[in-house]
Amino acid sequence: MVSTVEEICSSLRGQFRGDLLRPGHAEFREAQRIWNGMVARTPGLIARCNGVADVQAAVRSASASGVFPAVRCGGHSLAGFSSCEGGMVIDLSRMREVRIDVANRRARFGGGCLLGDVDRATQAVGLAFPAGVVSHTGAGGLVLGGGTGWLNRLYGLSCDNVEGFTLVAADGSVLRANTKENPALFWALRGGGGNFGVVTEFEVRLHPLTTVLFGSALHFGDDIARVLRQWRDFMPESPDHLRWGFSLTIAPDAPHIPARMRGLPVASASAVWAGNIEKGRSQVARVLRFSNSVAVSIEEIPFLRLQSMADSEFPRGRRYYTKSGFFQSLTDSSIEIMLESLAAIPSPLNQIELAYLGGAAARVGADETAFGDRSAPFVLNVLGNWLKPEDDAANVGWVRTLFARLRPAMVPGVYVNFMSGDEEERVREAYRNRWERLVAVKSHYDPKNFFCLNQNIPPSAKTAPLDP
Ligand SMILES: Cc1cc2nc3c(=O)[nH]c(=O)nc-3n(C[C@H](O)[C@H](O)[C@H](O)COP(=O)(O)OP(=O)(O)OC[C@H]3O[C@@H](n4cnc5c(N)ncnc54)[C@H](O)[C@@H]3O)c2cc1C
Repeated sequence: MVSTVEEICSSLRGQFRGDLLRPGHAEFREAQRIWNGMVARTPGLIARCNGVADVQAAVRSASASGVFPAVRCGGHSLAGFSSCEGGMVIDLSRMREVRIDVANRRARFGGGCLLGDVDRATQAVGLAFPAGVVSHTGAGGLVLGGGTGWLNRLYGLSCDNVEGFTLVAADGSVLRANTKENPALFWALRGGGGNFGVVTEFEVRLHPLTTVLFGSALHFGDDIARVLRQWRDFMPESPDHLRWGFSLTIAPDAPHIPARMRGLPVASASAVWAGNIEKGRSQVARVLRFSNSVAVSIEEIPFLRLQSMADSEFPRGRRYYTKSGFFQSLTDSSIEIMLESLAAIPSPLNQIELAYLGGAAARVGADETAFGDRSAPFVLNVLGNWLKPEDDAANVGWVRTLFARLRPAMVPGVYVNFMSGDEEERVREAYRNRWERLVAVKSHYDPKNFFCLNQNIPPSAKTAPLDP
């Protein structure tokens, strides 16, 4: 591999405007770091691209040398797909330009943008792009996998708001994908992840929004099961403007938590109302002021603040492991299982995240995008989050055991962006009846599986006609 990487470097020298970072380079150690400390790897070369021409050169050189590169935007892949051992990383972190067309409520942003880049630029003109909840997440991986967040009940998933992609394909050519150009590819890129090329630019729709009503509350003891049952029954009838969800965890030693409750299992509720703030006050108060809820807070806040509120909970370099799935509804026994698992939690940072999709995201047809069916609205994400390698087995084991116990009550399917790196057999489950169509698109645009470091859709030797 060392000589192959050397070969790529020499072929790129002279034509590559960005940085070619090899181990030993002053910037290599920092450039090598990805979000999940569990999957730390040392690539042989990080090609930090300065623009589309650099991406083309990197793709062509890697292809000529028979190297399958990792592609990195924000480096937040839970599975660690944006790095590799000894090979090459195509790093887009310099390609972070955001251009806004205010009159038409559109933005074009670079393939290396973080969510915070997009939010800052769009909020400067009073507009918002529906995306994820942590500002240091890469927009590239998030949008290509689907993209859930505070606004998706009102405006759909991130991928539902994409008008077009510009990408460098496996042969190094630049393609556009939208409703008119390469429509099958356009369909596949909205949920199909990094399987089809390096997206250098996203063109997306924006929505007018600058503030939201944000509420939070804590529920302890018997209230946890009761509030989850109320949530389950209320959400199917709730307005699209409301997003209300939970993180089940252990109450930290923090000033806003009464001393006697620290260290106990807690359901931490968050409710966001996007829309007419006065209308939202009573709705948010109604869901949060439940029984003996503690530390209830409701305030109108800037959208930018909402978007970075959770940033510090998930810092880069910690050890993380996840398992995720969908429920059609949440049974009482599933709730019981979750509560039992909290009693045996090995790390106080671990969380069971519960969200309800529905709304505009659920009104997009199952065949309209590769993301597919949104009819099972309850989203579960069991997130292991801990500090020391010696605690790996206990935490991974906790996540797996809880997931296995809940699995029989789930519907088939999983959101690819919430999958870990050891779930290869679930990729097909994620795409279910879209699988053959995705394989056909993959076989057409990437027949050699050059883009294989992702939740992979392998090409088929048989080429099928592309369904537009
Ligand atoms: C702290 C944290 C918070 C999260 N919150 C949310 C959330 O609120 N909502 C949600 O939906 N998801 C969320 N996720 C999951 C997130 O969507 C995925 O981890 C996603 O892969 C992150 O994108 P990235 O660009 O940072 O990933 P990277 O690790 O850089 O890349 C991940 C994959 O995407 C591909 N890729 C990335 N950019 C491009 C590109 N420009 N062109 C082609 N392929 C590309 C890569 O090849 C790779 O396979 C969160 C993850 C973390 C770690």
